[in-house]
Amino acid sequence: MPESFRAKQNIPLSEMTSFRVGGPARFVLYPQSYEAIAEAVSFAKEHGLPLALLGKGTNILASDQGFDGCVIRFDTPFHEPIYHGTEVIACCGTSMTALAKDTVRHGLMGMECLCGIPGTVGGACAMNAGAYGGEIKQILKRIRILKDGEDRWIDVRDCDLGYRRSAFAFPDAIALEAAFSLRPDDGTAYETMQRCMEKRREKQPLELPSAGSTFKRPEGHFAGALIDRCGLKGYTIGGAQVSPKHAGFIVNIGDATERDISALIAYVQQTVLRETGVMLEPEIKRI
Ligand SMILES: Cc1cc2nc3c(=O)[nH]c(=O)nc-3n(C[C@H](O)[C@H](O)[C@H](O)COP(=O)(O)OP(=O)(O)OC[C@H]3O[C@@H](n4cnc5c(N)ncnc54)[C@H](O)[C@@H]3O)c2cc1C
Repeated sequence: MPESFRAKQNIPLSEMTSFRVGGPARFVLYPQSYEAIAEAVSFAKEHGLPLALLGKGTNILASDQGFDGCVIRFDTPFHEPIYHGTEVIACCGTSMTALAKDTVRHGLMGMECLCGIPGTVGGACAMNAGAYGGEIKQILKRIRILKDGEDRWIDVRDCDLGYRRSAFAFPDAIALEAAFSLRPDDGTAYETMQRCMEKRREKQPLELPSAGSTFKRPEGHFAGALIDRCGLKGYTIGGAQVSPKHAGFIVNIGDATERDISALIAYVQQTVLRETGVMLEPEIKRI
């Protein structure tokens, strides 16, 4: 095993994902530098092992069978955010919430609505995360990616950033660093940030394990409202439940398995399709 990254064996994915489900990953690699990420990818290739990439695992449903390969865990920053006027460059292992707070402390605005999204900057860029009217796409200017063994910066104008998707999400690429273009705070950023956090605490079942919104927002609708309309709030399969607080969230109320959650996702999809004619598409990614 190369010395540039720490590695562990047989670590349950339930310990690495916010849903708290998933069997063991054969290898988990913890790179300590951008170069080490490239070495981790090469290590997996050389040994013919399938590869998965995790940030903080807050948008992931991991298999009960685990993952017989290498998981690269990129959830710690290699450096502090770097400011050049209204631009900030952040390591993709940085917490999205920590970065949003830091930019507000630096007298900038543009990222305050994204405070409270519980993943990394890399995960947020890969997913084109968004909340309360803010979206990564509005502020991301350049991104440093590792793709086909090449480490380079690209302009986001060359990227296909759509609703909860991007062209640099794993396995297409690994996002290493991101440059955001913000603007001077007009005096409202802190208050907006606090209001967004408050709304989350009020509306979301943050006390239970989940992966956030289970489904994408269907065109012209809200997934939670459709699920609620079908009377599914509180519907439970095994340890998986449609949150009574927010129908858009499936929560783990005890010892949920991936099987329970998958069965509940399928049940919700079938019911909503039958009752409303809308097919819900999962937002969460699978390992
Ligand atoms: C309570 C709760 C609230 C949430 N609220 C929101 C919200 O308001 N808005 C929203 O958009 N999402 C929300 N989410 C979902 C989730 O937090 C976001 O999608 C987040 O951006 C994922 O980041 P992560 O680091 O956890 O990525 P992970 O879950 O680890 O990974 C998600 C996907 O991104 C890929 N990925 C991760 N890092 C990189 C990288 N560096 N380069 C390339 N690909 C990468 C992974 O391979 C995987 O396919 C919420 C989740 C929870 C649990």
